[in-house]
Amino acid sequence: MLSPRRLCETILLCCLLLACGCREKPAPPAPLDPAGVEIRVGVLSAERILVRMPGRVEIRPLAGGELLYRGELQGTVAAVCSGAGIELGGMVFSGAVRVAPLGDRAGEAGVDFAPGAGPRPQRLPTLYHRAGADFTVTAILDGAEASSYRGALELRADDGMVQAVNALDLQFYLLGVVGAEMPAYFEAEALAAQAIVSRTFALYNLERARSNGQSRVFRATTGFQVYKGFSAEARSTRQAVVETRGQALSWRGALFSSYFHSTCGGRTANANEALGVTAIAPLAGVACGGCAAGSFYRWDSRLASSGLEDVARRYLRKNSPEVALGAIEELEVIERAADGRALYLRLRHSLGSFEWRADSFRLAVEARFPGTVRSTAFTSRKAESGEWVFSGSGFGHGVGLCQVGARGMAREGAGRREILQRYYPGSEWMKVY
Ligand SMILES: [Zn+2]
Repeated sequence: MLSPRRLCETILLCCLLLACGCREKPAPPAPLDPAGVEIRVGVLSAERILVRMPGRVEIRPLAGGELLYRGELQGTVAAVCSGAGIELGGMVFSGAVRVAPLGDRAGEAGVDFAPGAGPRPQRLPTLYHRAGADFTVTAILDGAEASSYRGALELRADDGMVQAVNALDLQFYLLGVVGAEMPAYFEAEALAAQAIVSRTFALYNLERARSNGQSRVFRATTGFQVYKGFSAEARSTRQAVVETRGQALSWRGALFSSYFHSTCGGRTANANEALGVTAIAPLAGVACGGCAAGSFYRWDSRLASSGLEDVARRYLRKNSPEVALGAIEELEVIERAADGRALYLRLRHSLGSFEWRADSFRLAVEARFPGTVRSTAFTSRKAESGEWVFSGSGFGHGVGLCQVGARGMAREGAGRREILQRYYPGSEWMKVY
């Protein structure tokens, strides 16, 4: 028999072992049932793309038709254009192709390319493949980091460039969106709200593209919603996608374009004023109250006069090539929305002046000098040094869900429904799959 003291020690030891065991072996992630809706998203465009898809694959024409190849791709292989077709790992196909992994690939270990291992890719650089992903792609020349994805890879030749499109189920697509659009450490209710919003946004735009006969290939950038594939997945964001399976937002019985942004700065924007689209009730703008603690609630920035002139010159070259630009003297907001966001600007320069939509101005500056004009809620002045000084509030276009505000609400104990009701007033819940 154990003495009371030994008994206590034994119990303590057992508790410690259990606690350590829990830390070392977290519960396996919740299973993720597919939605049965295929999403296609453009992930890369380059003259030459490196592809790594371990295991057996099938290659078929993108337009459908009989099998072109079944077997393994030898290590890392290059994809280049071959006329209107694609050359992949030494195989030449006359048109666009879909390369799909065969069988259950989950948990497959990544293997780095060993120089000289295959007949074709001897001079190709190493491509790190993340274990568990179906494939990894990167461009050879632009120094882009390789990214890993789930699902199939479509390759198409477009004017000498290889376009890489990732085709995968909506639920898996959302794993790569929520993890890219919102930090994984945000509260579970904020992540769940983001998952519902991103699902609604994707499904609405898929339906719209179908009915308009437009391309159904989504962009993977902030111009649509950011998607980083398997590389962006995290346990917390996965939980949000699993828990909200099939949940979306509707207005008057139909899905709508559930825009979202980082930080509204106090009040979300009216969709018509900020984006030029119809401001249905859920997108008309509301008081936020949740994002005051965010890093971009208020901001200040500076831009060299040569920087502003560079941005303005590019804009004019594209939109009004007949206008010559002199030295910029004044940047004036000539029209503001009721919430204070700038709508139109006038740039006065030594050779004349021109008007510029404020949202277009913001995107043009941000593309060249990220973090300089984070929103259209700003004022500006020219400092004596000649620099342009901006003061503003918020980050992003301001329409719909304020992500940092959603986090603020979740921290105060609000649930996903309350968060979504705040930012999309009048919207309803819908089960779409
Ligand atoms: Zn806000």
